[in-house]
Amino acid sequence: MAKLYFHYSTMNAGKSTMLLQAAYNYQERGMRTAAFIAALDDRAGRGMIASRIGLTMDAIPFDISDDLYAMVEEMQAGEPLACVFVDEAQFLSREQVWQLAHVVDRLGLPVMTYGLRTDFHGRLFPGSQELLTIADELREVRTICHCGRKATMVVRLGADGKVVREGAQIEIGGSDKYVSLCRHHWEEAITCE
Ligand SMILES: [Zn+2]
Repeated sequence: MAKLYFHYSTMNAGKSTMLLQAAYNYQERGMRTAAFIAALDDRAGRGMIASRIGLTMDAIPFDISDDLYAMVEEMQAGEPLACVFVDEAQFLSREQVWQLAHVVDRLGLPVMTYGLRTDFHGRLFPGSQELLTIADELREVRTICHCGRKATMVVRLGADGKVVREGAQIEIGGSDKYVSLCRHHWEEAITCE
């Protein structure tokens, strides 16, 4: 049975590396895959999934006006697909998460999504909220805080190296950096300095 998977974590946990490895496993067996990435994440170049360890793969950029079900259905009509991958899945709209659910339920294709659970304010991204609600399988990609505890939260550091407490949920690229922390150290970081 095909399923909708959500692999979630904080920043820099190796989600894209996992995606690329999983896609490679299909391609190695001669199976065709489709990969999507949020258009606003163009750190690696538009339409490219890149991991920190140097692997890359072409992907179709999507924005929230795209109908992912229609796009997959059209690709599937050409040559059968074996699996659909979505990177930066936190940027999906709720509607798009349902479109992916329809890919699973109506086209019988597994869909593997990878994304951040929470933003630097400590709130769920809409796409992640919907995935946590309706995905068949939830898989946590673990990374650790500097203290050794599991990191579940993320802080944004500005160009001055200080923690940013305000601002838009979505801001990719630029000179800001993100650091993954455990809940305790995240709370400490955002409440005092
Ligand atoms: Zn910690």
